[in-house]
Amino acid sequence: MIKTDTQIKIDTLDLIGNTPLVPLDKIGSDLPAKAFAKLEMYNPSGSIKDRLALGLIENARRSGQLEPGGTVIEVTSGNTGIAVAMICAIMGYKALLVMSDKNSEEKQSMMKLYGAELILTPHTVQADDPRSNYSVARKLAEEIPDSIFLNQYDNPANIECHYQSTGMEIWEQTGGNIEAAVIGAGTGGTISGVGRYLKEQNPAIKIIAVDSEGSILSHYYRTGKIARAEHYEVEGIGSDRLVKALDFSIVDDMITIPDREAFLTARGIAKTEGIFCGGSSGAAYAGVLRAITKHRLSGTIVTIFADSGNRYLSKLYSDKWLMEKGYK
Ligand code: PMP
Repeated sequence: MIKTDTQIKIDTLDLIGNTPLVPLDKIGSDLPAKAFAKLEMYNPSGSIKDRLALGLIENARRSGQLEPGGTVIEVTSGNTGIAVAMICAIMGYKALLVMSDKNSEEKQSMMKLYGAELILTPHTVQADDPRSNYSVARKLAEEIPDSIFLNQYDNPANIECHYQSTGMEIWEQTGGNIEAAVIGAGTGGTISGVGRYLKEQNPAIKIIAVDSEGSILSHYYRTGKIARAEHYEVEGIGSDRLVKALDFSIVDDMITIPDREAFLTARGIAKTEGIFCGGSSGAAYAGVLRAITKHRLSGTIVTIFADSGNRYLSKLYSDKWLMEKGYK
């Protein structure tokens, strides 16, 4: 029974972070190492990006760049947009989000339900094209008065958010007993912030990034050259341009996962562990499996499940879609 004499006020923003870290015991029962996943779908808007959106908007508000009633502009693969939309709804700002049309309809609907305006850009164009999501967002920020462009891809505060929250939480939740962290890279903010924090505590911890096949990131990591991006379906990881939020200096290895492996692994996690996660989480766990073999890991490995499968019911969790794409 609720005690009426006790006033409990919990702000939605207080629910951001402090997500659970769970062992992946069943799916990994025969592995030489023990993997744990940090379940970021437990953030209030449903993904790891609540941490980032709150950090970037708070910075802009405190520095006076964002005034009451102002417009927050951001380029997103969906989750940052949803998080920005939620926080703008709470704080009374307008949210204007720019996203490639490859990202799921579920994500588009979520941004709109929080009251944000969404502009879709064609996924077929390269990053330097004026029609790309980044070019469109930058132009809008120049044109719209009282607006700020958060620019998660090039903002050093992206790394800082994960250094202060995600990295510290992982260190505390594991009691510092970690051999490796295997984390998907999109903007690169999560792996860079978490990796920096963990390496400061113990430089022996291996930081392994997971990239999508078709993205430019792992090719750049291996060769120092920027290739032309190819299309890939997994959402949230991979990039078609080099970004400042990815600090390659803390990355010990980069593992590339094709779409099919990411999607089938995510479905396997639901069936064995009862965890309903997105395609990037499937890629992250596929990366854990490859890292165990490649780096002969035998201790504790931490990975991050960035969001929930309910954002992809019409995609990787649809048999019809999987078959149409030739993944099944
Ligand atoms: N997975 C999903 C589903 C995401 O939305 C993102 C964010 N782009 C990531 C992984 C990667 O996080 P980061 O941008 O911090 O590299």
